[in-house]
Amino acid sequence: MNKPQPLPTAETREFWDACARDELLYQVCKRCAHVQFYPRRHCTACHAMELEWRRSALGGTVYSHTTVHRAPTLAFKADVPYVIALVDLDEGFRMMVNILGCDPADVHIGAHVRIVFRVSDGGMKLPQGELV
Ligand SMILES: [Zn+2]
Repeated sequence: MNKPQPLPTAETREFWDACARDELLYQVCKRCAHVQFYPRRHCTACHAMELEWRRSALGGTVYSHTTVHRAPTLAFKADVPYVIALVDLDEGFRMMVNILGCDPADVHIGAHVRIVFRVSDGGMKLPQGELV
């Protein structure tokens, strides 16, 4: 059993294509400068359709986290325990990632994280986090 894979849409294809190049994109509204993530067709603050993509420097801090001890499906069984975190990127948006390669006890609110890209079961590169 493979893990579920993202399904790129018209709004997200540019984001996923950037992940394949180890780049993390986010959107900024050209009208009101609102920063948003995940990718959408319009600004969630002012509803303008004029958005631009920017590239993140990949640094952030843990806003919150949890450790998963019971795999949600058999595909995740070999991974437990694993850490899922909400990470505040330095550019002003928040995203959920797995924190890889660490003792779950080492993850704490405010910990510095770097976004890295790892190939998933289905062959797509996905953004993940590592403690720095
Ligand atoms: Zn806006």
